[in-house]
Amino acid sequence: MSAQLLLTFDDRHVAGWEAALPLFDAVGARVTFFVVEADLLDDQEQAGIRRILSAGHSVGSHGARHRNADQTIAEVGAADYLRTEIVSSVEALRALGASANSFAYPNSRRDDTTDAVLLKVFDRLRGGGPRTTDLMAARSAVVAGNPRVFPARGFDTGRGEVPHLNDAATLSKLLHELAEGGGTLVLYAHEIAPVAPGNHIHPDRLAAVLTEAHNLGLHMIGYDDLD
Ligand SMILES: [Zn+2]
Repeated sequence: MSAQLLLTFDDRHVAGWEAALPLFDAVGARVTFFVVEADLLDDQEQAGIRRILSAGHSVGSHGARHRNADQTIAEVGAADYLRTEIVSSVEALRALGASANSFAYPNSRRDDTTDAVLLKVFDRLRGGGPRTTDLMAARSAVVAGNPRVFPARGFDTGRGEVPHLNDAATLSKLLHELAEGGGTLVLYAHEIAPVAPGNHIHPDRLAAVLTEAHNLGLHMIGYDDLD
């Protein structure tokens, strides 16, 4: 079984993402960006998304306004949720040339009902999972086969001035196990920058993960590259 690593980046940090493209190119990695507020992107952000797409990366939806899928569907129903949160996002992304065939849940909030609603629109979904140094729990992020709903593990380095859990050794172990046993691991981060007000991954950390995965022979592909 092949070993796949899907790196994903959420929200609306187009300039930082674009600045990181050489890091991906250096190891031949393709990744996925899940964009929120796609209908509000200014000209510069739209041009950035087009350059990200022409570099071979995937662009999916993270919702129009980052609403929690489970709560919103419970409150307004599936039809209203799709109309207000999904359709405008998909249309805006497709106008930029994206497939928009995948969706990452805001705040990782999903359940069977939300999956059923969203799998009518998207080929694949991304949830979340625990970020822990407990290797047994961490292994739940690695899946076999080709599911339509992937769990995921966060790999941001911090939020504002506050560093996240230093779990580099755990992630390294997961990557080694993935290379040996096969399967798919999805990781998610947000802004790519040395410092940022919100969740972000330091470019040095991103480069280190890319190098390790490359040296292990992992296939780093985007959601649009999945069969
Ligand atoms: Zn988000």
